[in-house]
Amino acid sequence: TIAVEHLSKTFGHSPVLQDVGFEIRAGERVALVGPSGSGKSTLLRHLVGLTKANRHSDSRVTVMDRCIQRRGRLARGSRAQRCRTGYIFQQFNLVGRLSVMTNVLIGRLGCMPRWRALIGRFTPEEHEMALRSLKRVGLEELAHQRANTLSGGQMQRVAIARVLMQDADIILADEPIASLDPRSAREVMDTLQRINEEDGRTIVVSLHQVDYARDYCQRAIALKHGQVYFDGPIDQLTDIRLAYLYANAELDKP
Ligand code: ATP
Ligand code: MG
Repeated sequence: TIAVEHLSKTFGHSPVLQDVGFEIRAGERVALVGPSGSGKSTLLRHLVGLTKANRHSDSRVTVMDRCIQRRGRLARGSRAQRCRTGYIFQQFNLVGRLSVMTNVLIGRLGCMPRWRALIGRFTPEEHEMALRSLKRVGLEELAHQRANTLSGGQMQRVAIARVLMQDADIILADEPIASLDPRSAREVMDTLQRINEEDGRTIVVSLHQVDYARDYCQRAIALKHGQVYFDGPIDQLTDIRLAYLYANAELDKP
């Protein structure tokens, strides 16, 4: 589970998140939607402690019953816990000149004891685990190819395989399909859905395209001006609600 309470974040003088709260149960598949600048990325970053809430606010972020941050401070000893949350970026963040296999193995580094991560040697078990992860995203054939020779959709599936190496219970994906053509986008979303259904991992994915959210997620959380504008079953995110969600953001611009 993920619990967010009274999360507020201000950059300079602009409030980016305002008293955001929600709870996500284990195994849910949630779409995070909202206009550009509504705070989706900022919110996701709070869930792994990459960004801290305003100091002295009543904010609290709890992941799998462990406090990650509270009142704008990272909880002590939360590093291991944060490692159990995988993060997928729009731009994949692969090391282009390294092989697909090595990129997947890199997912282990955060889980290793520090000395072993420094040596950078992976065990045969970890190699097997990486092959299994690649199989699950349908790319075992490309294991020894350089990452920068892959298509965007393939790169994103390598990024998913890398997250699987972390044994993460929760996968956060920040616009994982924004730079992909429709076919690759479907492959990436199909892969995320399969992982959710097979392993029961929680998936929270921010999406610009609401039609993908409808096809792949059961629940939507919509942000507008840093506040929760809608939170509920995705079929209740009706066209009229969507019109308000997006149109008003335009109208509100100075
Ligand atoms: P998009 O759909 O374009 O990705 P978003 O919903 O992810 O948008 P955020 O990236 O979370 O929105 O940004 C929300 C607001 O916070 C924006 O106005 C942005 O300029 C501001 N912001 C985000 N990060 C910072 C930062 N490190 N410093 C200052 N302002 C920031
Ligand atoms: Mg964003």
